[in-house]
Amino acid sequence: MSNIEFTRLHIGGEWVDALDGAEFETVNPATGEVITKVSEAKAADVDRAVKAAREAFENGPWSRMKPKERAAALWRLGDLLVADAEEMGRIETLDQGKPYLAAKNGDVPTAAGLFHYMSGYATKIEGETIPISAPGDYHTYTRREALGVVGLIVPWNFPLVITAWKVAPALAAGNTVVLKPAEATPLSALRLAHLALEAGIPPGVLNVVTGFGSGAGAALSVHPDVDKVSFTGSTATGRRILEAAGGNLKRVTLELGGKSANIIFPDADLEAAIAGSSDAIFYNAGQACAAGSRLYIHEDVYDEVVAGLVAKAQAITVGDGFDESSEIGPVASKEHFERVSNYLRIGAEEGTIATGGNRIGEKGYFLEPTIITGTSEDARVVKEEIFGPVVVATKFTTEAEVVQLANDSRYGLAAGVWTSNVATAHRVANKLRAGTVWVNAYGVFDPSMPFGGMKESGWGREMGHEVLHDYTDVKTVCVSIAE
Ligand code: NAP
Ligand code: MG
Repeated sequence: MSNIEFTRLHIGGEWVDALDGAEFETVNPATGEVITKVSEAKAADVDRAVKAAREAFENGPWSRMKPKERAAALWRLGDLLVADAEEMGRIETLDQGKPYLAAKNGDVPTAAGLFHYMSGYATKIEGETIPISAPGDYHTYTRREALGVVGLIVPWNFPLVITAWKVAPALAAGNTVVLKPAEATPLSALRLAHLALEAGIPPGVLNVVTGFGSGAGAALSVHPDVDKVSFTGSTATGRRILEAAGGNLKRVTLELGGKSANIIFPDADLEAAIAGSSDAIFYNAGQACAAGSRLYIHEDVYDEVVAGLVAKAQAITVGDGFDESSEIGPVASKEHFERVSNYLRIGAEEGTIATGGNRIGEKGYFLEPTIITGTSEDARVVKEEIFGPVVVATKFTTEAEVVQLANDSRYGLAAGVWTSNVATAHRVANKLRAGTVWVNAYGVFDPSMPFGGMKESGWGREMGHEVLHDYTDVKTVCVSIAE
């Protein structure tokens, strides 16, 4: 058994067992072995957490703290995360499988950066004064107010980073939180709650209910005293959350799946395009909502790019995240391994496997980086999100054709464009229906860049100042100042 400090629910600043004592096992996907047991929250536990969050919001010190004090606590949490990078990184690798160096030097500082960035907004959430024309004499202004208790539901691909995407702005805006991590990766969220207390974020402000989607997740999204749910995960679950939210018409933000198009024009710097397109799909074993999973390559450079990408894929070291040579780890769970493996079988029938297509080893959930060619545009592997190290490469001839192909998806999360022509870059970026477009780059994220989807990739945005709109409401105050 691994040495894990925090495995129980975090409610009102206390570490507590589930009311019925239930627990579930979390597994290391590199070995298939149980790491530890974690408390399993059900509806009654979620209710307890919502009550603690409500109390902290209405009566607790959080709502009375000055913005400057909230900012200072969030900044301290960022600092504590930086200082905790080794242990937090170890936990993330154990639970999720990603390379330890990526977790320690990538995910943890990224999460810390969110708290540092959002800390600055705690003192800058402002309304406006409005000159109105109604008869009389008025002083009219708006206030941006916290929503109240927000439920945050997080997936297993970037457990800590996506948690930070949501917790940091929710708290900067003055809300209190009930957080439900994914059942496959509950450990980093619990440790974050410990660090938050240490940072001076008062008890009850950040509650964590580990458990299953059907139990804790569903209870949170239907709870009548939760003012908003922010969810990242699959489109199917997003729909379920939307239905559940209908009861009290709580606000909903949805960051859902993607099948993002990555387009290589013939005038691109091919070396950069090949390296960037490899990272775009294989980073984090393809378990990234923004992964460049549909690669469109101009016919003049198609053979060269596919050959280059095959060479890149074959050179990637796949292995246990604690082995320093591993560039990508296993996929995050047995269930997900089976889902991706099924798509590999489908892809072999729908097209040609240019490289990869197989499991690596007998233990753990490792898959070869895979490139599929020769599919039709209505193939399942072109249409459906696989969420694994699998890219589909397709040839195109004209710009108009590739824009049409790229936009022919129910998703609209992200896209990539590789070209040395600045006019092509901007023209195509404007035409793509995607929430983020990278040009001669892919997968660049920053706390200041809004991220989220168009079409069925979701509603609302994470990060940037845009996200604060999703965690606040506007109140208009109109005061007669007539004599
Ligand atoms: P999922 O079901 O959407 O899970 C995401 C989160 O929602 C988890 O915390 C999950 O809990 C919770 N959840 C599940 N059912 C719920 C419900 N009825 N009410 C409230 N919360 C609920 O995703 P998944 O099944 O783990 O993965 C399926 C597919 O989703 C992937 O193959 C991929 O296509 C997509 N995905 C996308 C992203 C993204 O970043 N956009 C991230 C992850 C997955 P449990 O962990 O207990 O199920
Ligand atoms: Mg796990």
